[in-house]
Amino acid sequence: MTQTITVIRGDGIGPEIMDATLHVLDTMQLGLKYEYADAGLAAMEKHGELLPAATLESIRRNAIALKSPLTTPVGEGFSSINVALRRHFDLYANVRPAKSFPNTKSRFPSGVDIVTVRENTEGAYIGEGQSITEDGETATLMQKVTRKGSERIVRYAFDLARRTGRKKITVVHKANILKTTSGLFLKVAREVAAQYPEIECNEMIVDNTCMQLVMRPEQFDVIVTTNLFGDIISDLCAGLVGGLGLAPGANIGVDAAIFEAVHGTAPDIAGKGLANPCALILGAAQMLDHLGKPDQAQRLREAVIATLEAKDSLTPDLGGDGDTMAFARAIANRL
Ligand code: ATP
Ligand code: MG
Repeated sequence: MTQTITVIRGDGIGPEIMDATLHVLDTMQLGLKYEYADAGLAAMEKHGELLPAATLESIRRNAIALKSPLTTPVGEGFSSINVALRRHFDLYANVRPAKSFPNTKSRFPSGVDIVTVRENTEGAYIGEGQSITEDGETATLMQKVTRKGSERIVRYAFDLARRTGRKKITVVHKANILKTTSGLFLKVAREVAAQYPEIECNEMIVDNTCMQLVMRPEQFDVIVTTNLFGDIISDLCAGLVGGLGLAPGANIGVDAAIFEAVHGTAPDIAGKGLANPCALILGAAQMLDHLGKPDQAQRLREAVIATLEAKDSLTPDLGGDGDTMAFARAIANRL
């Protein structure tokens, strides 16, 4: 069966890493069809707007998008196109795997395999806060936590664990201090956990979680948490295993899902063939999982691992002297 996906080539290093990723996907002969759509600076130049209606319509129709990083120019009415996309499609689950890979000069070249599931629509990020005195020297911030929002994110995490054979969930919170907001999240998480008796459920306070992640990251499997804590923890996890060039992410909603690299457009190396395509390639692996092709996703991840192990055509950020496309070809050759 053919599956059509929306492909957004993006800005900066975006087009290079997307070409590399599609080369790898083409090699796998999965019957994927690509529908190209523009967003970001590329869309501004071609269509005079950052997020054209045709792009939103393409994602809505296909329900799946593979997206390169985007530039949001200042003063164009958007604070971030990525955030606009998440809001438009109510992509409530931000899913970020962090796995040890060989030859990456990371602190934990083995033993780490953590998926962070971050609530993406509420918590501390519902607004930017406000100054409450005229002099602007006192400011406050509102947080919103709902039963509905908490339940759907925790359920997503448990379903993900069940589907992918993961055994343990850690619910990360600060309910001892933030008794109402974090307390509600924890209460709902316990109720959901009771419906998944085969999966071990732990609770951990966020500060302790940070220490434990740095000291003994191998104890974690799936982490589920609210927006702000998830933002920080998912970057911490990426740092444990080798940083930006290898960190993919997915933004998942009921009607659409967008798969991407966590890093930005890296304008300093754009157009030079220096960009590491792995983060987007691993984002494509997450997409294959989401499309119900876990065997193909695994096949793709194993090809990436084998290429790293062989140090075949790695990009300069990994200490190699390959370029973006040579790295992709080395991965494709192992498929
Ligand atoms: P943006 O404003 O779009 O976030 P940025 O300059 O902050 O762009 P990031 O992608 O966030 O760029 O990354 C910071 C630095 O990390 C870049 O300057 C680049 O040198 C490096 N980097 C990021 N992604 C990659 C990659 N895929 N391969 C190699 N180096 C990368
Ligand atoms: Mg950046």
